[in-house]
Amino acid sequence: MILLRKPGQFVDRKIFIGVGSNMGQSDKNCIMAIKMISGDFRVNLRSVSSFYTTSPVSNIEQGDFINCAIEIDWNGTPMELLQFLNGIEASMGRVRGKKNGPRIIDLDILLYGSKIVNEDMLTIPHKELHRRKFAILPCLEIEPDLVLTKPLASFLSEIGDDQKVTRLEHIAFSEDD
Ligand code: AMP
Repeated sequence: MILLRKPGQFVDRKIFIGVGSNMGQSDKNCIMAIKMISGDFRVNLRSVSSFYTTSPVSNIEQGDFINCAIEIDWNGTPMELLQFLNGIEASMGRVRGKKNGPRIIDLDILLYGSKIVNEDMLTIPHKELHRRKFAILPCLEIEPDLVLTKPLASFLSEIGDDQKVTRLEHIAFSEDD
C-alpha cells in the first residue's frame, strides 16, 4: 500500500522499519504500532508492506510472528528514531526478557537510506537483516531493488528453508481500522 500524506520537508528518506509481534493479537499490535509511528509529526509514512506469518528465528519455543515492513521519511537523527521506536515498544507494554523471546511488539530500523551507523546502541543496516527472510521479503515488496553489500534479494538463496514466511491475503494495514 502506497501512502503519501504529509507535505513538507523531511530530512532523511528511504528508511525501512521492521514491525513484528507474536503475543496477543499480533496483527492488531502491528497496526497499532504503525499508527503510533505515522502519527508522529517527524514521520511521513510512505508505504506499508503486506503482513506475513513467519516462523520464529530463535532457540526459544514460541508462537509464529506477524511481520511487515514500512517505509518512512524521518525528520531527526537515527538515534532519535531508535529512541522514538523504543518508546513505542515500551508504551505497548513490551518487557525486555530473553533475547529472541516472544514479544508484544518489535520495531527494528532495518535500513536508513545509504547511512551506516555503528554505535553501541545502534547498528544500521540492521545486523541481522541479511539473515532474516521475514525482514527481507517485506522490504523487497516495497522496494525490489534494495541493495546491502549486494542486492538484498540475493541473500534469500543463502537462507535455510526452516524460515517459513507466508504472505497473508486477508489482513492488511488500513488507516481506517
Ligand atoms: P531487540 O531485542 O531485537 O528488540 O533489540 C533491541 C536493542 O537492539 C535496542 O535496544 C537497540 O539498542 C539495539 N539495536 C541495535 N541496532 C538496532 C537497529 N538497527 N534497530 C533497532 N534496535 C537496534
